[in-house]
Amino acid sequence: MIVGVLGAGQLARMIALAGMPLGLEFIFLDPSADACANKLGEHLQGDYSDPVLLAQLAERADVVTYEFENVPAEVAEFLAAHTQVHPSAEALGVAQDRLREKSFFHDLDIPTPAYGAVESLESLELAMNTLGYPAVLKSRTQGYDGKGQSVLKSVDDLKFAWELLQGVPAIVEAFVPFNREVSIIAARNVSGAIVFYPLSENLHIGGILRVSECRADDAMQAQAEIYICRLLEQLNYVGVLALELFEVDGKLVANEFAPRVHNSGHWTIEGAETSQFENHLRAILNLPLGATTPVEHSAMVNFIGGLPKTEELLEIPQVHLHLYGKSPRKGRKVAHATVRAESLEKLSELLSKLVVLADQVDDS
Ligand code: AMP
Repeated sequence: MIVGVLGAGQLARMIALAGMPLGLEFIFLDPSADACANKLGEHLQGDYSDPVLLAQLAERADVVTYEFENVPAEVAEFLAAHTQVHPSAEALGVAQDRLREKSFFHDLDIPTPAYGAVESLESLELAMNTLGYPAVLKSRTQGYDGKGQSVLKSVDDLKFAWELLQGVPAIVEAFVPFNREVSIIAARNVSGAIVFYPLSENLHIGGILRVSECRADDAMQAQAEIYICRLLEQLNYVGVLALELFEVDGKLVANEFAPRVHNSGHWTIEGAETSQFENHLRAILNLPLGATTPVEHSAMVNFIGGLPKTEELLEIPQVHLHLYGKSPRKGRKVAHATVRAESLEKLSELLSKLVVLADQVDDS
């Protein structure tokens, strides 16, 4: 079987690494000549909407998937007319637009922060009259890792924050005074079977994910499963789906969902019986889904902008290092490492060591 992937970054690379033992082959479409998955399969180098390359991908791949959600919806629709594409263009379309996504959550009775649509400075001012400060202004599309976002602390911030967006349609949300951020990752296959991973507890700094810890038996697990199940069923979703949530006063509030494998699930490679990457492939190929049972306790740390010496990292026992083969650049995720331990005490000791090393090279 040949799996086509739109994008050939680290997520595509980890999908391919998970697929090789299953005998799968990969073909990637990505504009970048040195995209980091390109040695793990055939690389069609060019624009995501290049009709010739899309036709080649559709012809050669048995199924096509994505590693990121900003693929133009027309591309997904074109591919779907020629081959199997999972997740669907609809899931992609909802996730690409924060306003559509919020009203989708609302229709499914999944709580969100209060929000308003923003098309002008006047509409921002109007929305802020009801929302109150602080709030977060976000571009409706193309935002990730906190890009295109500003925190509004008072009326004095409105003009500057709106000008930063250069007129693109936006959404303004009440700032959630969360106790913690969590995400739930689930997989659903073509036949409709579903598996859920234990919650990840996530630490973001400056909008970028730094640390994710597997939280087996978390008190919020059941509620998170109910919410993600509504999304999976409503979208007739196929593949891995990640739902990011805030926990505030013992309740979950949805931030966003990602129709793909997710950075907060990287610990599943060593920390779960079946990784999110393998389950994504099993789901889109309609194979039985693998167990998501945690293996010991685990946590993952991202390396952003720079890399400690490999020798230093590998000195930590029970560390699993994933170098993406990307050259370090400011704010760029270049690697992650997962530590696994028998006890939570030991995990926290190992995690502290990893965090110290990550902080030394972090330039974001
Ligand atoms: P996003 O790109 O929407 O996932 O936002 C990136 C990060 O910014 C989130 O993981 C939070 O840490 C923070 N953030 C985003 N929206 C809000 C909000 N409404 N209230 C509080 N923090 C937020």
